Amino acid sequence: MTHPADDAVYDLIHETDPDAAAILEREKQRQESTIELIASENHASAAVTHAMGTCFTNKYAEGYPGRRYYGGCAHMDEIEELARARACELFGCKFANVQPHSGAQANTAAFIAMMSPGDTFASLVLADGGHLSHGMKINFSGMFYNPVHYPLHYDKSHPEHERIDYDAVREVCLEHKPRLLLTGYSAYSRQIDFEKFRAIADECGAVLMADIAHIAGLVAAGEHPSPFPHCDIVTTTTHKSLRGPRGGLVLMNDEEIYKKVNKALFPGVQGGPLMHVVFSKAVAFGEALRPDFKVYQQRVRENAVALAEALVSHGYRICSGGTDNHVMLVDLSARDENLTGADAEKWLEAAGIICNKNGIPQDPRPPMKTSGIRLGTPATTTRGFGPEEMKRIAGWIDEVLGAGLQGDAALNDRATATRAEVATLCEQFPMPGATARV
Ligand SMILES: *Cc1c(COP(=O)(O)O)cnc(C)c1O
Repeated sequence: MTHPADDAVYDLIHETDPDAAAILEREKQRQESTIELIASENHASAAVTHAMGTCFTNKYAEGYPGRRYYGGCAHMDEIEELARARACELFGCKFANVQPHSGAQANTAAFIAMMSPGDTFASLVLADGGHLSHGMKINFSGMFYNPVHYPLHYDKSHPEHERIDYDAVREVCLEHKPRLLLTGYSAYSRQIDFEKFRAIADECGAVLMADIAHIAGLVAAGEHPSPFPHCDIVTTTTHKSLRGPRGGLVLMNDEEIYKKVNKALFPGVQGGPLMHVVFSKAVAFGEALRPDFKVYQQRVRENAVALAEALVSHGYRICSGGTDNHVMLVDLSARDENLTGADAEKWLEAAGIICNKNGIPQDPRPPMKTSGIRLGTPATTTRGFGPEEMKRIAGWIDEVLGAGLQGDAALNDRATATRAEVATLCEQFPMPGATARV
């Protein structure tokens, strides 16, 4: 039971480079035999994966369709235009730039297009679920721009506890008059109200940008409200819930903004586009336009709710009280005050359950320890897991963390036993496109 795209690569490379091929084989086996709960990861289809391994990688195509700096670009133009048209259809907008190498590059281009160095922009307090490209001091966004941050509701008795405090967003924006207001997050489990953000942006004269890197698949499938027509500029990754190749995308309706973004990305930020990835993006957008993609995203949400509820039944707390999307932040301290995110990540990995430590809002612990873990359901849902499997996973998580609290010997025994059960379950739900190796 292995991934055919990886099998083909393995067979090809094994002859000439057994060392590299052996590492591929080990990674493939790791992915196949473990449960992937990292919210920003997924298992791309064999078609999307194979598309990246084509002769499109050989070509330089600096510039844009019809205006390239190199000859021989006829088919580069065709594939880029197909990817753009599908992206626009998928997200219901007029213009798309499909060239960003990653989500961070898409954000860099958007910032350069919409702001001048030194300009102020407003984003969520980074430790509460933002992304490093939303103003971290050691990132371009914090080095060359002036970030100000808006909070969540921190008052435990507030019905919107740990959700976006729209009144505070408005106050921060009226006080600092940012050039750009940024919404969209890496660890926020509730729906974003783009209309409310639009009203605030209008009131303070800001450009409204949404970074939907995490929720893009849900948005494309209509399982989360669309940032259009409310947002001026929308960025995303293509490899998270959208289930495409690793890459970025910028979307907008305004032609002037489109022209600025194109210039900002090339020649502003990048050189030649990764045309093999653009080819794969077109294939992935084609998959996302099919009706079964909507069903997939509905299951992603169902599974997230099932996992969150099961964890609550074991004594954990879900930040903000639950999830509307694919992700949840689990407050481990509700189960045991000695549990940390760093330990949980390590202990669960030993049991074949992969996740990441993550700070919770106003976390008293430092970022390398944390009081929480972030869990997401895009990858497990792709494998075909349903609510029953989510309950089993929550049970395993609780058993492993309980054993870890008792010490190394208990943890070792438990992790070994759970790892075997995890592997058995994974055999029943192969990675997409998996076939018996012949
Ligand atoms: C993942 C993420 C990004 C960055 O994507 P990369 O492809 O890793 O550069 C940007 N913004 C948000 C909100 C993200 O979650």
